[in-house]
Amino acid sequence: METKEMICILCPLGCKMQVKEKPDQPGELSVRGQQCKLGVDYAYDEYANPTRTVTSTVAIHNAPLPRVPVKTSKPIPKDLVFPALEEISRVEIEGPVEIGAVVIKDILGTGSDIITTRSL
Ligand code: SF4
Repeated sequence: METKEMICILCPLGCKMQVKEKPDQPGELSVRGQQCKLGVDYAYDEYANPTRTVTSTVAIHNAPLPRVPVKTSKPIPKDLVFPALEEISRVEIEGPVEIGAVVIKDILGTGSDIITTRSL
């Protein structure tokens, strides 16, 4: 089984971990290099279903700045990050907006909304 190198991003220590599936126990992982159990949980999540929070900006009209920062309301599958960024890049909104306003509902069917991260 191939060993994957991962860095746990759950705290500033950033433990460098070596993760591989146990040959005799499908679905079970051997995890080394973590300094606490959270690293093991992170390795399982990242191995089975890697997700990312996406941040970007959206064009806004009738506002003091030309673009407003946005992010996903919850992480989305890693392989949908670039398609999500393409969809976000096509959006233009009208100001003013409040922080937390939904710009795109349920982006790419992920259940995550694109929301503003500041009022503008
Ligand atoms: S394994 Fe634990 S100590 Fe290491 S980065 Fe993750 S949360 Fe921090």
